[in-house]
Amino acid sequence: MAAQTVFHADVIVVGSGPGGATVARALARAGRQVLLLEAGRDERQRPDYGTYLGPLRYAERGSFLFTEEGMQVVRPLLLGGATSMYCGCAAPPPVWLKDRYGINLDSEVAETVAELGIAALPAELRGAASTRLAQAGLALGQLWQPQRKFMRPTRSRCFDCSANCMLGCRCGAKWNAAEYALDARAAGATLLTSARVTKLLRSGNRVTGVAGFHHGQPFEARAETVVLAAGGIGTPRLLQTSGVAGAGEGVTMDTTTIVYGVTKERGSGREPPMTWSWHNQAEGYMLSTLVDPWLLYPLITALSGWRRPLTWPNWGRSLGVMMKLTDEVAGYVGPTRISKPLTSRDRERLKAAETVVRRMLVEVGAAPDSIFSTPLRGTHPGSTVRIGHLVDIHLRSEIEDLYVCDASVFPQALGQPTVLTIIGLGKRLANHLLARG
Ligand SMILES: Cc1cc2nc3c(=O)[nH]c(=O)nc-3n(C[C@H](O)[C@H](O)[C@H](O)COP(=O)(O)OP(=O)(O)OC[C@H]3O[C@@H](n4cnc5c(N)ncnc54)[C@H](O)[C@@H]3O)c2cc1C
Repeated sequence: MAAQTVFHADVIVVGSGPGGATVARALARAGRQVLLLEAGRDERQRPDYGTYLGPLRYAERGSFLFTEEGMQVVRPLLLGGATSMYCGCAAPPPVWLKDRYGINLDSEVAETVAELGIAALPAELRGAASTRLAQAGLALGQLWQPQRKFMRPTRSRCFDCSANCMLGCRCGAKWNAAEYALDARAAGATLLTSARVTKLLRSGNRVTGVAGFHHGQPFEARAETVVLAAGGIGTPRLLQTSGVAGAGEGVTMDTTTIVYGVTKERGSGREPPMTWSWHNQAEGYMLSTLVDPWLLYPLITALSGWRRPLTWPNWGRSLGVMMKLTDEVAGYVGPTRISKPLTSRDRERLKAAETVVRRMLVEVGAAPDSIFSTPLRGTHPGSTVRIGHLVDIHLRSEIEDLYVCDASVFPQALGQPTVLTIIGLGKRLANHLLARG
């Protein structure tokens, strides 16, 4: 057997999604020796990146990952984490983070918005069908607004986004956390891809490093500080291997479904995803314009019953409204299984949201008997290592010098895009670590 490689750094960061990449970049730029470990690879230059074949390789179980209850969970495992498959939507942190926990991310978020040029797409790029849907919502008294995006058409020579954007951005308009990871490397960090961490190394109650496999070969890495940013599923699993009681108990998903209706006009599938949204804070759900990519549509709708894929020829005239629920903390992330039951309150709110969406679709000309909902999906796994439960407001865990910075620390579901909040948390944690010396 090959000799085990041993790395040394000031700070080890596990996971290169928005949480990990942000912390790593800020610390490397401040002169810290950073080791950034990512289980996946940089897939962005590969020919199948952003095609239907790509997620079969780089999402866990080819995106056919299901909870015990049958909810599909999309878990991208590659450099940049889930931002390789996200819709590029940006939302400010929820106000309760400041009001209830004293976590004020205003300056971190303002800095990010300015740096990345976060803004709604220009009106002419929001899509005619998506805009018709938003207008129908406005006519019903809902406050639909252009969705702010981590997406700059000027970064791309051929901005031709459609629903396929969720397979991986091929045109380059969408910001990806992989860019921050490469910025970290440019600032002196060591970035190892295909480096899967399997356990934490400890001396008593102090973390001293991590161990895992790099390209299949065992390695150890030692540092004074370790930041776990392996995401809402990966982080609790790592804590479980270290015997942290309660890790993974309770999970939120911002449970999602898309409601479809068919009209006589062109649908919204060839338009950029989620260009308009309405966040109904009072009722705890968000609506946005979204259609599944053409080839995924029959697969996803088949989960609602064998007749649904027969509506595939209508895809080009379909309008889709995504419903995202601020779901309650329930279920668990175990070493190999995930459970995410919906509470009765979750079900009531989903039903209420669906009634609202049906009215909108009819308002915009969809035939009532063409309207149906896809099965439930989870794309925002989080709240598995919650602030106030397993980490404090500085994201410190009960193990000394071990921090967590990803969606798992959300104390409750955001029910809205997560990435801007996670970047804010990453910048705040980096400042905390630098101030600590
Ligand atoms: C289809 C889809 C659409 C979405 N759309 C939006 C949107 O429009 N706007 C928005 O804000 N959010 C969106 N999200 C959610 C958002 O992308 C995630 O909530 C966010 O990326 C989570 O960030 P994170 O840092 O917690 O973890 P992740 O992004 O999940 O990153 C974790 C990283 O850790 C790595 N990792 C895991 N385990 C290990 C290990 N043991 N060792 C080493 N590395 C490991 C993974 O490979 C991954 O790269 C979407 C998500 C999906 C799937």
